[in-house]
Amino acid sequence: MNLCREVAEKLLKFRDGELAEIEEPFIREHLQYCPSCLDLLNGYDEVCDVLHRLKPVGMPPGIMDRCKEKMRRVLAGEDPLEDDLGSCCE
Ligand SMILES: [Zn+2]
Repeated sequence: MNLCREVAEKLLKFRDGELAEIEEPFIREHLQYCPSCLDLLNGYDEVCDVLHRLKPVGMPPGIMDRCKEKMRRVLAGEDPLEDDLGSCCE
C-alpha cells in the first residue's frame, strides 16, 4: 500500500478545492502526520504563487494547465522533477 502516492495524486485537486468532499478528511489527516506530502503541497503552493505573480506580465494561454499537468505527473512519480520545470512554461 502506498498512501503517499495516493495522496500525491489527489493533492492538486485538494489544493484547488476540487476534491470530492468525502476524500478531504483523508488527505487532511494524512498531511498531519506525513511531512513529505505536506512538503509536496507547500511546493505546489510556491509554484502557484510564482505563476500568479508572473501573470500581470502576460502568460501564454494554457500555461496553468500545462504546469498543473506537469506537477501532477511529478507528484504521481510518473515524471522526474528535472531542472527543466520551466519547459512546461515555454
Ligand atoms: Zn504521505
